[in-house]
Amino acid sequence: MGAVMIEFNEYYMLVALAVRERANCRGRRVGAIIVKDNRIIGTGYNGTPEGMANCEDGGCVRCEKYRKKSQNYDQCICVHAEQNAMVTAARFGHSIQHSIVYTTLQPCFTCAKQFLQAKVKTIYYLDNLDKKIKKLSVEDKDFNDQYKILCNRFKKHPTKIKKRTLIKNVHNIKKYLQK
Ligand SMILES: [Zn+2]
Ligand SMILES: [Zn+2]
Repeated sequence: MGAVMIEFNEYYMLVALAVRERANCRGRRVGAIIVKDNRIIGTGYNGTPEGMANCEDGGCVRCEKYRKKSQNYDQCICVHAEQNAMVTAARFGHSIQHSIVYTTLQPCFTCAKQFLQAKVKTIYYLDNLDKKIKKLSVEDKDFNDQYKILCNRFKKHPTKIKKRTLIKNVHNIKKYLQK
């Protein structure tokens, strides 16, 4: 019999949280990593594309002008953390098929469907997407149902209780780095 594979490893979520430290977006800061065969093959945080002004310096018109209204998502130039992790893996020639994703935020529709098509095995996320999704109008409920189908092959982060442990560890890492 082969070795027992422990799929979930909370230390990978710590790595995702550490990666999030570099995020630069006026929206929520997110970090994501992609793990395959117990190796990190892609990392990403959210922000404007390489070579462009950072979002927090006004680099993204949408984030600057329309973020509070939650409008013009399709004109946002900020690359999502999960997208950056996928793109990094692709850039260096790693297939993400059967990989495991650790992301600090529940993926959006776009990232979820891309992960699904890339045949990612599991997505673990820490925080839930906007509360807005919970306040459902009739139309939104349909979207919500569709999103559930989209994500039902992926698992949530095993437990919310662990979050406290994770945050504590991040503080410890930060403290260590400041020494
Ligand atoms: Zn942004
Ligand atoms: Zn996304």
